[in-house]
Amino acid sequence: MDLPDQVLELRRELQEVARVRLGGSGIERDREGVFWREGWQVCAEAGVLSLAVPREDGGRGLGLLATIVAMETLGEEVDDLGLLFAINAHLWAGVIPLVHFGTPAQKTTWLPGLLDGSIVAGHGATEPDAGSDVFCMNTTARRDGTDWVLDGTKSFVANGPIADVLIVYAAAEPGRGELGLSGFLVPRDTKGLQFGEPLDKMGLRSAPSGTLVLEDCRIPGDALIGSEGGGAACFNCSMEWERGAILAMHVGRMSRQLDEVVRFAKTRRQFGQPIGAFQSVANRVIDMKLRLETSRPLVHRIGILKDQGRQAMLEAAMAKLHVSEAAVQSSLDAVQIMGSRGYLREGVVERDLRDALGARIYSGTNEMQRVMIARLLGLPSSLPERRSPEAPEG
Ligand SMILES: Cc1cc2nc3c(=O)[nH]c(=O)nc-3n(C[C@H](O)[C@H](O)[C@H](O)COP(=O)(O)OP(=O)(O)OC[C@H]3O[C@@H](n4cnc5c(N)ncnc54)[C@H](O)[C@@H]3O)c2cc1C
Repeated sequence: MDLPDQVLELRRELQEVARVRLGGSGIERDREGVFWREGWQVCAEAGVLSLAVPREDGGRGLGLLATIVAMETLGEEVDDLGLLFAINAHLWAGVIPLVHFGTPAQKTTWLPGLLDGSIVAGHGATEPDAGSDVFCMNTTARRDGTDWVLDGTKSFVANGPIADVLIVYAAAEPGRGELGLSGFLVPRDTKGLQFGEPLDKMGLRSAPSGTLVLEDCRIPGDALIGSEGGGAACFNCSMEWERGAILAMHVGRMSRQLDEVVRFAKTRRQFGQPIGAFQSVANRVIDMKLRLETSRPLVHRIGILKDQGRQAMLEAAMAKLHVSEAAVQSSLDAVQIMGSRGYLREGVVERDLRDALGARIYSGTNEMQRVMIARLLGLPSSLPERRSPEAPEG
């Protein structure tokens, strides 16, 4: 697909920024599980955090396709996918719900800092007993005068350890599924909100994730985001945008892996020949190319649909499923083609594999994407009635 000139210009801009200011392997950050705050600020200064936000809300108003291409470009150029994951969590779990559901006062309070990078956002939906069955959550929200009081535990919150504000989903009456679910803006320093230690994850290690504990956590009435009982709509909006855009960084990474393995297969010689001359090696390269070329249009399509104001739940689920599986398989192929070099922790492909495995789980597991695709195609479902077809995962 031919991209608009404006998007191609953005791509060139970000290539330049990444090459000059976002270099380095980030291997230490991966080992230590350390967030790259300077890299975050560089991306903020380059306008990455505001691309998808309309001009009237202080953003660049370039839309989702431009943001997807930006993420793809950064995925190609920047070694540290954890940084890009943290940016995506911030955008789709925090910024976009605020743009779509926030009141003018909430936008005025939070958006400027969220867009200039001085404020980091995340969201808490998943709980110890509510993962794929996310709407079966136990975190409660009760009214007390004009305030709300939240109680519960949220697990695996991306950006949790570094977030300044979180959208926390809670139920007025647990057990009613998505009915009665509401979203709340909870600043980090709110009394009754506690943060666990960063989780020791397999991949995306420079994107800190953690547990939140809400105990008698009191927030004012105007912290409600969207309508009372409208939490599922807010959450679904988040997920629809996220599934398309977050996978774009993996598309970029697949493109880079392909270049790397082609170079390697042409220069690494065994039995007196470049290894690319062996058909079983070439076949892996060919499969990587096919996965890249089938993944890219899927994510671009979501950008096009959302920029036209259309629904993209089915497309987002398909992109999430296909691209994450492709990213895992292509990372495995890259490791195999590079042999022992691919197996070293000092290389990038080993990290790519660990990072890509996360993509099969976050934004709803791939099994749940299949459940959703089947439902959206009209197939019968064995899941309980409390779900909407658009909303089976966290
Ligand atoms: C890197 C990362 C970042 C994350 N960030 C966030 C975040 O910011 N905020 C947040 O709230 N959550 C976040 N999560 C949590 C994520 O949304 C959940 O891990 C995910 O929804 C699955 O829940 P679970 O881990 O409890 O697995 P479970 O739901 O317990 O699933 C276990 C296995 O059973 C399968 N399974 C479950 N039900 C079905 C079914 N009906 N049909 C078929 N298979 C099924 C699953 O697919 C999976 O393979 C993140 C997770 C990861 C890995």
